[in-house]
Amino acid sequence: MTADQLVARMRPFGTTIFSEMSALAVSTGSINLGQGFPDTDGPPEMLAAAAEALRSGANQYPPLPGIPALRAAIVEHDRRFWGLETDPDTEVVVTAGATEAVAASILGLCEAGDEVVCFEPYYDSYAASITLAGAVRRPVTLRPGPDGRYVFDEGELRAAFGPRTRLVLLNSPHNPTGKVFTRDELTLIATLCQEHDVSVVTDEVYEHLAFTDAVTPHVPIATLPGMRERTLRISSAGKTFSCTGWKIGWATGPAALVSATQRVKQFLTFVNAAPLQPAVAVALGLPDSYFTGFRAGLQSRRDRLVAGLTDAGFRVLPSEGTYFVTADITPLGGTDGADFCRSLPARCGVVAVPTQVFYDHKEAGRHLIRFAFCKKESVIDEAADRFRKLT
Ligand code: PMP
Ligand code: GLN
Repeated sequence: MTADQLVARMRPFGTTIFSEMSALAVSTGSINLGQGFPDTDGPPEMLAAAAEALRSGANQYPPLPGIPALRAAIVEHDRRFWGLETDPDTEVVVTAGATEAVAASILGLCEAGDEVVCFEPYYDSYAASITLAGAVRRPVTLRPGPDGRYVFDEGELRAAFGPRTRLVLLNSPHNPTGKVFTRDELTLIATLCQEHDVSVVTDEVYEHLAFTDAVTPHVPIATLPGMRERTLRISSAGKTFSCTGWKIGWATGPAALVSATQRVKQFLTFVNAAPLQPAVAVALGLPDSYFTGFRAGLQSRRDRLVAGLTDAGFRVLPSEGTYFVTADITPLGGTDGADFCRSLPARCGVVAVPTQVFYDHKEAGRHLIRFAFCKKESVIDEAADRFRKLT
């Protein structure tokens, strides 16, 4: 027997960069701008509802698709913000975070050998889920254009579609680049999906974090003509309500796509986090002011971090959304983001994430690193002070 008992197809994946970099932050006492988690709690109404649910007996298995109150709140939220109409009984499934929704949908929709078109850099779980399903990823590279905004080449996207294409896996607002896909870009993707009769799985965990100065507001691709019936839309409470440890996500869309996801999901976790489900229902029902205030808070913290990075000599690429901004290390003499991030704690006591780990074509991201700004202003200011040691 070989020493490594892991199935061959998973061996390339190792430990996630988030675990590695968070461990480095702890062991070096550095400021952790690597893994994307807020350092403050979410809305008090949500926390109070969770405590109340825990004390009042909501501690057994919830129904497989999620408790009715949460499904109703998801439907109402999607109607309020995006004008989407969804049947709470057949078109919603609550999952253990967006991560499980991504995994279960890919496992439920892809035969071995099917191809999944995605945009690199991509969130790390996408590659692992595609591989677990025995499917094949067809990455299209996002590259900074002349104004620094990440763009893709239309020809490259067209060429990624073929007879085995089963899904497009889309993420907007996009981690790690902070790109918000424009309506024109989404329309092109939608047209190709219709031409090739392909479904879309769309990860919109940052749906409330397209900043007001983005070229475009967030547009769920499901709202484009002809796309509602072929789109599975995924979101999660973690980012919008600053509770990344709760792992409450969901997938919505046509019953056939939701059912395929749910039938796999029932054998992954079955259900999760009973007392947190009613609390997320409360959070989804908060007034618009919560959502705009949350976005404004992140946008001003983005600006604060960008100013600090720019002062330190990084070439900062525009972030239009999410918790993240990417920076080019070339002006600081860096060539390899992984080496740079491993040495950053010793050099200045800050942790970031090399984005090359999110690419198949690693050269395209070798010189780029990602910083999270979902942190207290005092923490961002302290990081900015520390960056000055780099020059
Ligand atoms: N998708 C993206 C793009 C993310 O950044 C994250 C990290 N929150 C996830 C999915 C995972 O979300 P969750 O924690 O709800 O599983
Ligand atoms: N989504 C978070 C990020 O991109 C981390 C999630 C994780 O640790 N798996 O930083």
